[in-house]
Amino acid sequence: MNVHEYQAKELLAKFGVGIPAGIAALTVEEAVAAAKQLPGPLYVVKAQIHAGGRGKGKFKELPADAKGGVRLAKSVEEVEAFAKEMLGNTLVTVQTGEAGKQVNRLYVTDGVDIAKEYYLSMVVDRATGRVAMIVSTEGGMDIEEVAHSTPEKIATITIDPAQGFMPHHGRAVAAALKLSGDLAKQAGTIAKQLFTAFNALDCDMLEINPLVETKDGNLLVLDTKMSFDSNALYRHPDVVALRDETEEDPAEIEASKYDLAYIKLDGNIGCMVNGAGLAMATMDIIKLNGEFPANFLDVGGGATTEKVTAAFKIILRDPAVKGILVNIFGGIMKCDIIADGIVAAAKEVNLQVPLVVRLEGTNVQQGKDILANSGLPIVPANDLGDAAQKIVAAVRKVA
Ligand code: GDP
Ligand code: MG
Repeated sequence: MNVHEYQAKELLAKFGVGIPAGIAALTVEEAVAAAKQLPGPLYVVKAQIHAGGRGKGKFKELPADAKGGVRLAKSVEEVEAFAKEMLGNTLVTVQTGEAGKQVNRLYVTDGVDIAKEYYLSMVVDRATGRVAMIVSTEGGMDIEEVAHSTPEKIATITIDPAQGFMPHHGRAVAAALKLSGDLAKQAGTIAKQLFTAFNALDCDMLEINPLVETKDGNLLVLDTKMSFDSNALYRHPDVVALRDETEEDPAEIEASKYDLAYIKLDGNIGCMVNGAGLAMATMDIIKLNGEFPANFLDVGGGATTEKVTAAFKIILRDPAVKGILVNIFGGIMKCDIIADGIVAAAKEVNLQVPLVVRLEGTNVQQGKDILANSGLPIVPANDLGDAAQKIVAAVRKVA
């Protein structure tokens, strides 16, 4: 789960992390009121969307030479003008895709006099079972580009969560950022605060880009992206309360209500599978046969009629879907029960696209009989290869 910049900064501030003063706003009036509460004379008006690259982004509704989603304002009047231009309009950045994202919230902050921009992020490194802190002197820009062209400018410091953040980690961060004296001390402190927040909030990613040195010698978090481990959200109702469903794919929200793991993809074959590994294999074999999956969908161990029906409905929300491949292994749930579920669901949603079903496991013959006797045009498949070939042939016929 992701949150907005202002929400992430408010969370970080609770851990002592320095951030510029700022107030979120949903309307132009609120933006003006926010600016009036800030010291000025420089303000920053920042579009709040779950995507980075806002500064260099473009608004669909504005002329091509208009400014992006992060604007420096020199007066309250300018804050008002920028808020009017941004709210309700669609911001396209390198991270939003072509469709862009509608800006519904703004963050009005105190403008900072920047001396230098740095980069700092943290991720869970599964290979070492530690937290990797990635730091670079090249802040404010596209870190992928830095990693590609000047990888020597990126340092990775790994922290054992059992040991925690030690003073030497802080010194390593300061050294990698080429800081000395008081700024080095501040770098150690802020890195420790960020690590503490990362752990306490069960983040899986925290990116500060840029971390800035101000002209008066302070280190501040100027921009941040934060995402949380969804398996740990039950421990953080305060974080769950920050969820902004307008930023998420409606089909993915619907899927989460039924405990289905669904991710929309760009192809035309809808997949319904139980088990993440089998789902991955199913997507692979569709590609091997020359077509692309329209989604990843894991219905989980207990594929009940209710879940299967919800899954069909979610797959069919996607107009690109030209056929569906069901690939289910009846282990805990027996194949005849699953077949009943598929038949009931296909009838309920009045399925209009070809449906290929591969069942394997306990009571497989009873399951196949139920599908064959259903009166529905369900195409049975004997194994995964057969299933993929049949669904690919079926969608090509439709197309
Ligand atoms: P992003 O484009 O979505 O990554 O948004 P950021 O919050 O990182 O802002 C982009 C850039 O705008 C930063 O790298 C800074 O160069 C600039 N910027 C943002 N806030 C301020 C500010 O308070 N003062 C100044 N001078 N520049 C800022
Ligand atoms: Mg940024």
